[in-house]
This record gives sequence, C-alpha cells and structure tokens, in this order.
Amino acid sequence: MQRWPVLLFLAWVCFLFFAGIGLFMSGFLLTRIELASSSSCSDPLVPPPWERQSLPPGSCWAPQRFAKAVLVIIDALSFEFAHFNPAKASPLPYENKLSFLHRLATSQPHHARLYRFRADPPTATMQRIKGLTTGSLPTFIDVGSNFATYAIQEDNLLAQLVQNGRRVVFMGDDTWEGLFPKKFFRSYFFPSFNVKDLHTVDDGILQHLYPTVDSGEWDVLIAHFLGVDHCGHKHGPDHPEMAKKLTQMNEMLRSLVDHLGNDTLLLVAGDHGMTETGDHGGDSEKEVNAALFVYSKTPLFGTSPPEEPEAVPQVNLVPTVALLLGVPIPYSNIGEVMAELFSGDGDAVSTALQQLSVYHINAKQVDRFLHSYSLVAQDLPAEQLQRLQELFSGAMEEHTQLLAQVQGETLVPPELESRLGSLISRFQLYLREARAVCTQSWARFHPLRMVGGCTLIAASCLLCYVASELAASSGSFYRSCLLYPLLWGLVVAVLLGLAHAFTQEGLDLLLVLSWAAAASQLGFFWHWWGQYPKRARLVGSQPPLATVSLRQRLRAWLRLAFPMGILLFRCGAMFSDSFVVAEARVAPFLLASLVMLLVGKLHWDGRLTVPEGPKQQLLGFSSYRREIWYLLCLVAMLLVCVRLSGFFHQCREEIPQCRPSLFLSPLASLRNTRAKNLFYLLCVALLAGLVYAVRSWLRHYGNLNSSDPLVLFVRWCFPLVVLCIACYWAVASSADDSLGKLQELVQVAVVAFPWAVYGLASMGLLLLLCNPMTVFAKDTRESAGSIVTPYLGVPSSEVDFLHVIPQIYKRMQESQKSRLERGSCKATVAAYGLGSVYSAALVIALTLLGFLLMLLHSERLSLAFLLLFLEAFVLLHIHTRAKGLAGDAEPFSVPWYAVISWLLAASQFFYSTGHQPIFPAIHWNAAFVGFHLDHSTNLLPAVLVGANTFASHILFAVGCPLLLLWPFVCEMPSSQRKKPRKEPQEELQEVEEHMMEMRLRESPEKFSTALLQLGLKYLFVLGTQLLACVCAAMILRRHLMVWKVFAPKFLFESLGFMVSSICLLLGISLVMRVDCAVSTWFSQLQLRRPGARGRGPAERRSGRCDSSETASGSCCGGYGGCRLPSPPCLWSLPSSTTPCFLLWEHLTLSSKEKQKEYARGSSGFWRPVGPAGRILAPRSCGRRCCRR
Ligand SMILES: [Zn+2]
Ligand SMILES: [Zn+2]
Repeated sequence: MQRWPVLLFLAWVCFLFFAGIGLFMSGFLLTRIELASSSSCSDPLVPPPWERQSLPPGSCWAPQRFAKAVLVIIDALSFEFAHFNPAKASPLPYENKLSFLHRLATSQPHHARLYRFRADPPTATMQRIKGLTTGSLPTFIDVGSNFATYAIQEDNLLAQLVQNGRRVVFMGDDTWEGLFPKKFFRSYFFPSFNVKDLHTVDDGILQHLYPTVDSGEWDVLIAHFLGVDHCGHKHGPDHPEMAKKLTQMNEMLRSLVDHLGNDTLLLVAGDHGMTETGDHGGDSEKEVNAALFVYSKTPLFGTSPPEEPEAVPQVNLVPTVALLLGVPIPYSNIGEVMAELFSGDGDAVSTALQQLSVYHINAKQVDRFLHSYSLVAQDLPAEQLQRLQELFSGAMEEHTQLLAQVQGETLVPPELESRLGSLISRFQLYLREARAVCTQSWARFHPLRMVGGCTLIAASCLLCYVASELAASSGSFYRSCLLYPLLWGLVVAVLLGLAHAFTQEGLDLLLVLSWAAAASQLGFFWHWWGQYPKRARLVGSQPPLATVSLRQRLRAWLRLAFPMGILLFRCGAMFSDSFVVAEARVAPFLLASLVMLLVGKLHWDGRLTVPEGPKQQLLGFSSYRREIWYLLCLVAMLLVCVRLSGFFHQCREEIPQCRPSLFLSPLASLRNTRAKNLFYLLCVALLAGLVYAVRSWLRHYGNLNSSDPLVLFVRWCFPLVVLCIACYWAVASSADDSLGKLQELVQVAVVAFPWAVYGLASMGLLLLLCNPMTVFAKDTRESAGSIVTPYLGVPSSEVDFLHVIPQIYKRMQESQKSRLERGSCKATVAAYGLGSVYSAALVIALTLLGFLLMLLHSERLSLAFLLLFLEAFVLLHIHTRAKGLAGDAEPFSVPWYAVISWLLAASQFFYSTGHQPIFPAIHWNAAFVGFHLDHSTNLLPAVLVGANTFASHILFAVGCPLLLLWPFVCEMPSSQRKKPRKEPQEELQEVEEHMMEMRLRESPEKFSTALLQLGLKYLFVLGTQLLACVCAAMILRRHLMVWKVFAPKFLFESLGFMVSSICLLLGISLVMRVDCAVSTWFSQLQLRRPGARGRGPAERRSGRCDSSETASGSCCGGYGGCRLPSPPCLWSLPSSTTPCFLLWEHLTLSSKEKQKEYARGSSGFWRPVGPAGRILAPRSCGRRCCRR
C-alpha cells in the first residue's frame, strides 16, 4: 500500500487550494488605508486669523466650552434600554430601567438630551471603539482581528487630548489597553473577554469611579462598562438579570451626576445595540441602534428637545467632543459636528454664527482628509470626489461672502438668519455626502489578485477531477503526476527566492507561494498531456461505441449527470443573495432531492423490481425484496432526519419573520425549572444512547472483545466521558444565585469537568493513534490452557461472559478436534472484528470528536449532533444498499452521488447546529468551556470557537473514508443471491464474499488508489462550492449585499474548506495508520506461527498454500486441510506468506439467538454463523476433510 504518496498528493492539492484562497483573499478583503498624518493646533486650517487671537488659552481651532468631560460607555446600551416610556404599564426586563436619565431630560430640557446613536457596522466592540475615537469607518476585515487588538495607528481623539496636555483617565474594558497603549494618565483595566462574567468589570469601575472623580486629577475620564453586553450574551435582553444590571447602571449614573462639577460634560453612550438573542456584530436595525445621552450642569441646548429623539451617527461624536474640549479634530474624521451643542445661550444670530464656524472648521478638515486620502488611494470614485469638491468650494465661497457682509454689517437679522441657515445646511449636505461616499466605497479590491486566486482554485478543481480519473488507470501515476509537478513548483519558488535575494526587494511570501502553486499545476497538466496518447489507447481498447445501445449510453451519462446537476445547482445558488440567505433550507432540500433521484434512477434501471422467472424466485427472491424495502425505509428515515434537523436553525436578520430555535440558547437561560430538568434529562439520556449505540455496533462486529487499551477505553471511558459532560451541563445550567455558598465549588466544577472531557478524549485519540487495532485474536494453534478470566468467581455480567464463553467453546472445540483427526485442524487463528477494523477505528475517533464538539455547543444542540450521527449512518446504509442493488462492478470506487450527498449533509448540519455564515451567529461562548478567566493567548479561543463553528465539517470530513469502507463492512452480495448454489466451490466463493474490509487489504494498491480517489473527489466537490463562492464575491463585489451576504459567506466557506481538507487528511491518515497496525499484527502472527520458519522463500512469496501444506493442515487448518482445486486460503498478503484464518467477525456470542444457532450445528463448533444465519465456513468441507 502506498501510504506516503497518497497523503503527499492530497496535501499538495490542499496546498494548491490554500494558495488560491490566500491570493483571492488578499485581493478581496483589503483594509482601508490608514493615513499617518495627524491634526495639530498650528494647522493653517481655520479659524480666520482675526478669530484665532480671540481664542481663550488652551483652545485650538475653536473656543473650549468644557474643561472636563466624562465619557461613560455602557457596552451594548441599546436605545430601547435608555428610552423611558412612562405610559408603559408592564415594561419588559430591559425597559424603563434608566429612569434617572429620563428625569434629567424632562426636568432640565436645556441641560440633557437623549439621542439615537447610529453605529456603523460591523458592530463589534473593537470596531466601535475605533470609530468612536478616530471618527472613521473601520473596515470589514477588522472583524477578524477582534481576538487580537492592535494599537490604533491613525490620528484619534485620545492622541489629540494627550498631545494638548489633557490628563485622560480610563477604567473598564481592557480592549482599550491594546488600542491605546501608554496613552492614559491613569488606567484601571479589567478583563473583557469572558462574556459569562457579568460583574468583574463593572464592580472594578465602581470601586474607582467616584474617588477618581472627586480627586480632580483628570481632564477626561472614560469608563467602559461591560455588564450589560455580557448579560445580553449570556441571558439575552429579555431576562431579569438584565433588569438588575440596568438598575445598577441607573444608580451609578445618579451618583456620578452628584459628583460632577459645573464645567464637566457628561456623555453616556452605547457602542452598539443587541439583537433579540443578545448578540451583535452585524448591521441589523437592533444592532446599530445604540443610545447617546448628553448632560451638563450648565445649559447646553438653545431649544427644547424634539418629540422623537434625533438620530446621530457615531462618528459625529469625535468632532463634537474635540471642539467642545478645544482640541483639534482627528485627521481622518469624517463625522459631522452636532450643531445644537454649540448653541450656548445667546440670540439666534450669534448661535447661528457659532454653529457656522464649527461647521466651517469641520468641512475644511474633512476636505483636507479627502484630498490627502485620494492622493494615496484610488478607491474613492473620481466623479463623486469631483462632486464633493464642487459642493465644498461653493459653500466656502458663500461663507467668505457672508462673513464679509457680517463684518460690514450690511445684513439685517431676519435675512442674515436665513442666509446663515442655508449656508449651514450647505455645509451639512457636504459633510453628509462625504460620509456617504466613504461608507459606500471603503473596500479597495485588487482585481489582478482576485482573478489570479480564482484561476488557481478553478485549475485545482480541474486537477482534482482529472487526477481522480487518472489515478486508477496509470501505472506511473505518482512519478509523473506528483513528483515532477512538485519539482516544477520547487524550482519556481527557488528562482523567485533568488530573484528576491539579488534585487533586495520586499518578498511577498503569498505571491511566491501562489507562483509555486501555479507552476506545479502547470507541471501536472503538462505531464498529463504527455500521457494523453496512452490514455487514447486505453480508450481504444474498450468496445466501440456502436455496440453500446443508446439507452445504456444514456444511463451511463445520467449516472454522472444527476449528481453533478445537483452540485451545479448548489453552486449556481451561491450567486443569489436570497438563496445564500435561505441556504439553511436549500442544502437539505438538495440532499433529499439527490437521494430521491438516486432511488428514481435505480427504479428506471429496473433494479427496484424483483426479477421474474422461477429460478430467481426460488433463490434470492425474498432477500432481494427485503433489500429493496430496506432501502426505501432508509430513504424515508433520511427524509425524517432532514425534516427534524430544521428545528435547530439560527436566524438571519434578512428573514424578519424567522424565530431562532429554542434549542440554541443554553439551559441556564431557561426560567422554567421543570422544562429545564426535562431537557437536561433528555440530553443526557440521548448522549448515553449514543454511547450505547456505538458500543453495540462495535460489539456486533466483534470489535469489543479484545483487551487492548483502546477497547478497554471504549468500554469504560466512554460512559465516564458522558458522565463528565452530564455533570458539566448540570453545573453550567444551574442558576447563579440559587447556590449560595456552593458558588465557589461550582466555579471549580465548571472548569474541572470540561477539562476531564478534554483529557479523556485526547487520551482516547492518543490510544487510537498508538494502537488502533480492535481485533481479538484467538489463537488455537497452541494447546488450550485453562479458562482465564480477569474476574474472580463466577462470571456475572455480560462482559464476563463475553470473555469466558469463547474460551469454553475453544475447549469444546479442542476436544472435538481431538476426536476427529489430531493435528489436521490445529493451526487456526480466529480473529474477531478483523473485518471491520478500519471502520471501528473511524467510528471510535468520530465518537470522541463528537463528545468534544457537543461539549462546545449549548446543551440542547447535542440533540442535533445525535441527529447528525443518525443521518450519517442512514446515508452510509443508503449508499451501501444502492451500490448493492445497482450491482456496482467497481467495489473500490465511491460514486459521485455518495460524495456529494455526504457534503450536502455536512452543510446541512452546519446550519442545524445553530450556525449561519454571518459574524453575529458565531458562538463565542465556546471559547470559555473549561476556562474561567481571560485567555493568555489568542490561539486557544480561536481553536475552540473554530471547532464549534465547523463542527459538522470536521465530523463529516474525518468520517469521509467510511464511504469507501461501509459497503465492505455491510457486505451484501446481492448478485450472488440470484445464483444457484450447488457446488462446494460456489460455497467457498461465498465464504470469500465475507472477508469484509480484508478484501481491501487483499489488493493494497487498489486500496490506496481508492483512498486517493475518494479524497480527490471530496476535494473536488468542496473546491467547486468554494469556487462558486469566490466567483460570486468577485463578480458581485459592488452588490448591495456584498458585505452582508457574499463576503461573510466566502469567508466561512473558505475557512470551512480549510478545516474540511485538513480533517479529510486526518481521516485518511487514520485509515492508513490502522493499515500499518494490521500489517504489524499479521507479521507478529506470522512469527508466532509454529513451523513458519520451515517454509521456503518460494511459498512465502506465493502466499498461497501448496497441496502438501494443506494436507498437513499447517496452513489451512481452519478447513481441516481439505484438498480443493483452488487452495482454500481465505485470503493472502502479497510478498509474504500468510496463515489462513477463519474470520469470525460476526461471532460475538452476545445475543442468545446466535448462540442458539451456534449450538444447532452440534458437530461443528467450527462454524461461526453470520447475522443472517449464513454459514461462513463450509461445513461439508470441514467434515469431509477432517475425517479423511
Ligand atoms: Zn460592545
Ligand atoms: Zn458584546
């Protein structure tokens, strides 16, 4: 078996895809260019010289109105939270809690006002802090760096304050520490990342807030509270905990106002809102709708507040606060001043003049920014810039004229007022349009890289297809299709590296890798083309097309066309935003259609009707009919699974009528204790059911008999893992306050139980890696000893019987043998579970992974995981039955429909485990399963959240080799059943049918090729979906929905591709590891075999028994040394001699029925009996020969 070439080839193909993804991403997801310039007091911007002299000391650009400012940021303070509606009779937990703000606003309308504070998406806290301090728009890609906060390089409000000698004191969310390192005069940071912790940050701030305010050693104080946001994440807004939190905030504001002086401006702001489930990150109305409250003890507003609170974009806070505090506006600001805060208490004209002057400063600053920005970057459209320029110069001209007229006092107040008003609205128009232009086009694409990435991915897909077709036919496949292309790629990489070394230019690693990938692809296609004549000859050797009937040709074409048609449809759907939005329903629909089409095609081929004729009726009639019914039942079961999986969906805000599934929220958020307990019991019961099902499956195939560490682990530690998960769920879902003194114990348990599961699961995976054999070998070649039992006394449990009964039978068998012919039947090894040794390892690995992934999800999603396992199981059976009924001639090739349905199920369960390809839907809680405090690195939380998000991708990719193995495990020789059974030879053939997975070992070359083909097909289908997403993102990059739908979809799809491809490699490696272990096992058996040393090299090479050995029974003792035309070795390994085995894979002795059946063949304890009562070892042969 060629292990390394297969893995290397697949790894190389993955690398090609990764290079394509990287190249495309670098062209598609560019960040906005950050300008290094910053504003300063001495800028020759504004105001006009005669005004500059009149500026009070310590003021820049505009006169300072407040000496001090307090900015209270209450994270995720939605407008609904801050708004007070006295008419509301029964307010929700989050309504009418900030009554103090309402009282201030109504009792002092000229001092206080509430605004709607419109956040720009993405509404993640770090992006919002950036926006609130730079006055600019953070771009899409910043979302990705939310785990690692980086210092803000751009000019910002804090930098301006510090530059102008203000003392800035900060307390709260430690995100600020990373964004503004060493900027604060004094700071109190508290860990922000643990969203389950509602109080640490808030209590920390409250401890320091009032002493700091009273000390007076500050000019600007920023306090960032996180409790409300975390409460939203943990419980959702509609929860009593939220009411408590908001009441606490209300009290805090009340005391804070008492501590403030007259020269202090108070701003209370939310950085974003939250959805109904308490999440944020996107751009839905609820997420962008935050609150802003402004208050000062001196009058601020000239007019009374409007009926409905005004909406203010968040960037507007930056220029407003800068000018109120008398510092320059940050260089990159695109916000507009909030004019009513500059009205003061003068008459209408002086108010308008004051407002005009701040608008004038603001407009000049924005114009300067746009000007220098357009010099560096070309992403703002030229015609729009032109229009903005015209607007600006028009307003400036009028401003100059008006000022001259004001100086000359040629205008009377009413006219002056209206002229001032119209000029202000011209400035407003300019500022708003400028902001709109920036918002629209703040993503700079790199078309060449995008096309390059797209081409690389497309070529990789083609390569996968070609290679999967070619792998089976070509002899020198790995040399011409792997080695040479790799050399090509290496040469190009080295050349580029040398060129870099000589030219001393900056080396772009991504570009070098992409060129290397492209070169190796070219190498592949070149060598493939070189082999083309050979391929043509191969085709020519097949029967000419004329002899094949049209119907047959159509069928052959349809065989490929219908799964490909489904795939094509799926890819086409990626180009429509509504289909992407509704993909949660599209994927299961396509899966169901594919399976129905499969059944339809089988029917069309006449495979679903029982064959006519007396002969067939006599023979396989009933069993064939049973197979058909079985298939139809499986299809019905699949449809039920698909239907049920719809209960676990997360919602997208694009579908307003959608209600998120109840199962998504953690049990802790459930207030009904009875329902909570019921759900808890259900989840634990089903988890135990899963363990039971896996163990029974393993027992059925005899993989639970051995006493190897792995098998013992499955027996004892699987229930232990379930116990740990159940305990963790119990602790995590208990109400916080109901525990009282136990609280500390709970804190420990919440961390300890997940770690126990992590530890046990990794131990299991390690055991699986070290010794993946689950085979119980019973060597009867040596004398049978006494019955050994690891348990003292009389065996009591089933497990004990499992251990003891085979030994009893062994004894009986020994005595039976000695009564027959001594010596002839001695060399026998019975191997339990050998026929399913590969799948058993995969099933164990999948179960362990399933435990880990379930732990990372909320409790009730474990139901979705069980559904996933069930559906995968049903799909495998459908595939096996369909293959059997279709009479597939190629047992080693996995048909396309199987691969595509497998992947459709993977996407279906991405949605059915509560995920959506949008950022707010990411389950960030997963980062804290087993961790109490903040993470020290970003790697671990990223891995945990990634595993949570791509759980179904991981499970299906690791389980992908099962598609190849399953038909062998459930061997169903339906074609044979139609044949008459007369001759012993025929019966012998039947025995060979039941070699199960050992058939794969019989032809190791075919096995490795089959694995390679399966991997390539899987990558092809994955790659095609990815290609569709990439093309959609590229073509529709100016689409209204690009940042909302296509770009996140592309990101999730490409990450999913990476995760899937790596897990696919791991799954295939696991199969190869098992293969290694099986080889070692055989060689050890070979060494122990009595008389093995005596064999000549010739026999060893042939691997078959010669007649003398069969006679002596040393080789094929299992058959009593019968002399048959073909040596009755069950199977053989090439290039090594092999002992023959009875494969007792079905013999588990666990069910009474089988024992009965076993006992019925009274003379032959030799006869293991299959599940359908089929005799595995030919009785007649055994008797006849052994008596001879
Ligand atoms: Zn936030
Ligand atoms: Zn949050």
